[in-house]
Amino acid sequence: MDALIRRRVYLQQQLETAVHSETAFSLRYQPQVDAATGHTHGAEALIRWEIADGEWVSPVEFIPLAEESGQILAIGNWLMKNLFEQMAEWNLRGIAFGRISMNISAIQLARDSLAERMLSMMENLAIPAEQVCVEITETTLMTDSERVIDNLQQLKKAGINISIDDFGTGYSSMSYLKAIDASQLKIDRSFIENITSDLSAAAIATSIIDLGHRMGLKVVAEGVETAEQLEYLSQNKCDYMQGFYYSKALPAQQLYELLTDSSSRAVVEQR
Ligand code: C2E
Ligand code: CA
Ligand code: CA
Repeated sequence: MDALIRRRVYLQQQLETAVHSETAFSLRYQPQVDAATGHTHGAEALIRWEIADGEWVSPVEFIPLAEESGQILAIGNWLMKNLFEQMAEWNLRGIAFGRISMNISAIQLARDSLAERMLSMMENLAIPAEQVCVEITETTLMTDSERVIDNLQQLKKAGINISIDDFGTGYSSMSYLKAIDASQLKIDRSFIENITSDLSAAAIATSIIDLGHRMGLKVVAEGVETAEQLEYLSQNKCDYMQGFYYSKALPAQQLYELLTDSSSRAVVEQR
């Protein structure tokens, strides 16, 4: 217990320095593959924190702390700035990277100006809305905050895709799904993990695919690790796949190589 509390306090202190630094955080991109064609459809941007030389802290550990302290706002700004700059650079070089998904926390969405700020940053860097997808968790929708819904509706109206992350783990409200007009459902990794061994996990996953399609949404599977999982999901018409089977999250340069190198693309297509 003591050790846990000490770790928390230590991380919170270190975060205070990290949010004022330009180099503590970095971005990785995990490809999302179109199940029908095998082509890379886009990627999810995932944040990394190097707390000291060669020592990394997982976002699973620090994002909840940053949400508690409010530091998530500074981290979110860092993310938007760096991600959009990277995308603008790829656009200038004519690299077809598809659509990039970014994770946005409920705390960010509960701020008045989030949509405005995001859209103005995108406008300044000439990033088209169709290149951006915002991933929010089901729990975010449950906060029942008008500002959250309002920000999401503004983003949606501008043409940004909204994806519901970790779908199936929260208490989804179907009326919220309708209100924010999501474009995509993302089946949580916990269901994918057991999809070929556990009948109820498989039933949940296929029901989510069915529900999504009936609502006119695309469905993404996260945490696809094996050929068997891929096969099962393809047979059940899941649209996009993301997971270690294809690739872990890559630094920008490696994603660029994957997108432009025809031999590595062939590997992805073959699978
Ligand atoms: P998430 O949004 O559900 O992201 C997927 C996580 O699953 C990532 O972990 C990814 O590396 C991992 N993953 C991908 N494929 C596989 C696989 O085949 N098998 C397994 N076992 N894991 C896989 P990561 O990068 O550690 O991120 C963890 C969580 O941290 C994310 O979960 C997300 O909730 C949060 N997060 C990451 N980046 C950001 C960010 O920029 N902002 C916010 N607010 N949250 C973030
Ligand atoms: Ca996500
Ligand atoms: Ca997830």
